[in-house]
Amino acid sequence: MRYGALEAGGTKMVCAIGDENGKILEQISIPTLMPEETMPAIIEYFKNKDIAALGVACFGPVDVHPESSTYGYILKTPKLAWADYNIVGVLKDALGVPIGFDTDVNGSLLGEITWGSARNLTDVIYITIGTGIGGGILSGGNIVHGMLHPELGHMKLIPAPGDSFQGICPFHGNCFEGLASGPAISDRWGASGKDLMDRAEVWELESEYIAQALSNLILVMSPQKIILGGGVMHQMQLFPLVRKKVLEKVNGYLDTPELRDIDSYICPAGLSDDQGIMGAVKLAMNACEKSAI
Ligand SMILES: [Zn+2]
Repeated sequence: MRYGALEAGGTKMVCAIGDENGKILEQISIPTLMPEETMPAIIEYFKNKDIAALGVACFGPVDVHPESSTYGYILKTPKLAWADYNIVGVLKDALGVPIGFDTDVNGSLLGEITWGSARNLTDVIYITIGTGIGGGILSGGNIVHGMLHPELGHMKLIPAPGDSFQGICPFHGNCFEGLASGPAISDRWGASGKDLMDRAEVWELESEYIAQALSNLILVMSPQKIILGGGVMHQMQLFPLVRKKVLEKVNGYLDTPELRDIDSYICPAGLSDDQGIMGAVKLAMNACEKSAI
């Protein structure tokens, strides 16, 4: 069976064909411009590809509740041309196949629990730290959507002593994303993360904020594993710093086999940056299964 997969991002749309093992058979990338330019190119790619279903893992916020009248819409987004855009409806009308739909981070989470480093687990958090910060939560075997979907990148953090940076989030200033996303690093230090690799103080502070967020999430959701992806986490020196600081913050209050194996507990994505597109394949497989019932 061939499945279509669309990883819809703010700067590019990754379109791929995958099989039931998550194997990506072919893939292209289309720049995210205005919907009237970008959508016909996406439809053109998937047309005549003989796909059984399409999975869409989309930048948000999005409406993922099937019973809602705006299901499948991109909601209020700073990318104004895409605000209130019925992405699922347009694709369904053009392609005539079942469509699976979720947020981009839930797509990555789904990829990791199906084929990556979180297989056979029921409680997992996937966080991407890049242009923005977002996260998907698997709780009791179900991906959490709740009222809308989790937006853990916007949790408030406590500024580190001596840090007077106001943060860059237009809504909250110094929330997690405002303090620790890729653009926040560039704004604070005047250079991009790639050019700051040998500046220890950059990663000390960055790992402090990531560890604050993670220890909050550990105490609230009790995950069995936390996976960190996204461009900022390509700085592999962050992992040991984050692990050490998380343990310091938890301060012995929790003593579990998972936390005693902290290197496995807080880990990079297992699918080498293919977790998003492979998760979109799984969304398509799920949609196909559902439509057959
Ligand atoms: Zn925010």
